[in-house]
Amino acid sequence: MGKRKKSSRKPTAKKGKDPLDTTFTCLFCHHDNSVNVKVDRKEGVAHLLCKICDQRYQSRVHHLTEPIDIYSEWIDAADLAEKDSRAANPRRPVASSSKMRPAAPPSVGSDDD
Ligand SMILES: [Zn+2]
Repeated sequence: MGKRKKSSRKPTAKKGKDPLDTTFTCLFCHHDNSVNVKVDRKEGVAHLLCKICDQRYQSRVHHLTEPIDIYSEWIDAADLAEKDSRAANPRRPVASSSKMRPAAPPSVGSDDD
């Protein structure tokens, strides 16, 4: 039986490509560093999660996207969602325009007889 040289491979402490983790303050529960943004450039997506109130957000990323971009996107999305929910219950009904122009086909003056 041949003896094999045991090559001890020491795993490098850092593999170089750690997903960039960044924490932020949560919009909803206002806890500091409770929101974690993971940007997965390989997958082209970013995941945002608040570990306190379990708010989630997902977005597409490109090679220049930073966690802070996802965070601000989330703020925008949350803002929009809030406006949306308000728009769902409008105080005043939108007056539909009464003047509707009938779509008259452009009749070319050609007396076919
Ligand atoms: Zn939260």
